[in-house]
Amino acid sequence: MKVCCIGAGYVGGPTCAVMALKCPDIVITLVDKSSERIAQWNSDKLPIYEPGLDEVVKKCRNVNLFFSTDIETAIKEADLIFISVNTPTKTCGNGKGRAADLKYVESAARMIAEIAQSNKIVVEKSTVPVRAAESIMHILRANQKPGIHYDILSNPEFLAEGTAINDLLNADRVLIGGEETTEGHEAVAKLSWIYEHWIPKQNILTTNTWSSELSKLAANAFLAQRISSINSLSAVCEATGADVSEVARAVGLDSRIGSKFLQASVGFGGSCFQKDILNLIYICENLNLPEVAAYWQQVIDMNDYQKRRFSQKIIESLFNTVSDKRIAILGFAFKKNTGDTRETAAITVCQTLLEEGAKLDIYDPKVEPEQIIDDLTHPSVTESPENVKKAVQIHSDPYSAVRATHALVICTEWDEFVDLDFQRIYQSMMKPAYIFDGRKILDHERLHQIGFHVQTIGKKYQR
Ligand code: NAD
Repeated sequence: MKVCCIGAGYVGGPTCAVMALKCPDIVITLVDKSSERIAQWNSDKLPIYEPGLDEVVKKCRNVNLFFSTDIETAIKEADLIFISVNTPTKTCGNGKGRAADLKYVESAARMIAEIAQSNKIVVEKSTVPVRAAESIMHILRANQKPGIHYDILSNPEFLAEGTAINDLLNADRVLIGGEETTEGHEAVAKLSWIYEHWIPKQNILTTNTWSSELSKLAANAFLAQRISSINSLSAVCEATGADVSEVARAVGLDSRIGSKFLQASVGFGGSCFQKDILNLIYICENLNLPEVAAYWQQVIDMNDYQKRRFSQKIIESLFNTVSDKRIAILGFAFKKNTGDTRETAAITVCQTLLEEGAKLDIYDPKVEPEQIIDDLTHPSVTESPENVKKAVQIHSDPYSAVRATHALVICTEWDEFVDLDFQRIYQSMMKPAYIFDGRKILDHERLHQIGFHVQTIGKKYQR
């Protein structure tokens, strides 16, 4: 079998790499319209950072895994084509929801329709609105050449950045949605056969197409909802003396609730949670279900509130002014083990501090300096790019970032921050020295003993 994947990004790359590793009998070609991205996939410096990815790519590249810009040949030769392109959020719209912009999915479908000379199974890997397969089928059928048959499947990806390789190797479940026809069942069986190379059959769940499409939006909405739920309680804890970590443990030990994803923090980020919930809200608004839309809107509002609340807490603690004060930001990625900064909480924190006149010293082990400057000079940021560039310094090591600063803010839960020499950091900072632990990863008791004022999420400030 020959497989093609259109879109060599955070999902297409790791997914095809693991598939190639586990399916030596399948030839996989990963294509992208970006020649720069493909060149990186073919080089020693891959375009994305994921633990374990380098090794898998090195093993399979040019054996049964190929990276190419020759989209036409890859589509022509493939029996099965994954569409794994980006599905960003549209900026227009009247309500609070935001439609998914399917222009890249549409363009991939049009390319397939134009190029295909034999039967194809087309698989939606991208996260799409429920019933998107109908639109893809519409494009394919409208341009169908005689004798060519298309099947469309939904196969949403549940990997999380930072743990993508492990998630793909040991997936909780693989979800495949297809048409309830004989051809539909045969197409599902072919895709299932690929996954059965490494995923136990009982973990491969098949549904109708619409259930599969909606399940992906639902899964992300549920995950984000848990974070917003515990974050909402973190504000109650700070006001009352309850400790959100203790509450999370007590609540999570109930087997009906479970302990995962109950970590209070500065807020969720990443390219998916907010985008997919906004899309769900948009769908609900269009289905004339305003109460359902309002329900999911709360998850996003709570996340925005948490990011603002944390930023405000920093300002208030520093005598209500950060003007011309140096503040160290440790971590800029939206989570550890990735260099991805899309929707990262660090942007809100930095933006708020910059608006109040702070000078920022930023360190992240994996985010490129240009990316940080790009994010902070984005048109949505109110400060002018010139001011931002003057006020921000990017560092290549954490100790230089904290030197002579009034406060250290943890925005990403990188493991290396836990093991920093805080005695040395304390000595190099201005006094009083503050730490704002937005990820609850540090040993606060020890930091108190060293002399720091420590503030965190979901625990009343004690001195
Ligand atoms: P990405 O932006 O990293 O990669 C998408 C790639 O598609 C880009 O390299 C782009 O150049 C390419 N592309 C777009 N249109 C193309 C076309 N017509 N022909 C060839 N290449 C084209 O996106 P991503 O993070 O990999 O996400 C892809 C999809 O998977 C999205 O729908 C996303 O919501 C979903 N998803 C993402 C994650 C995640 O953690 N990033 C997890 C699960 C699902």
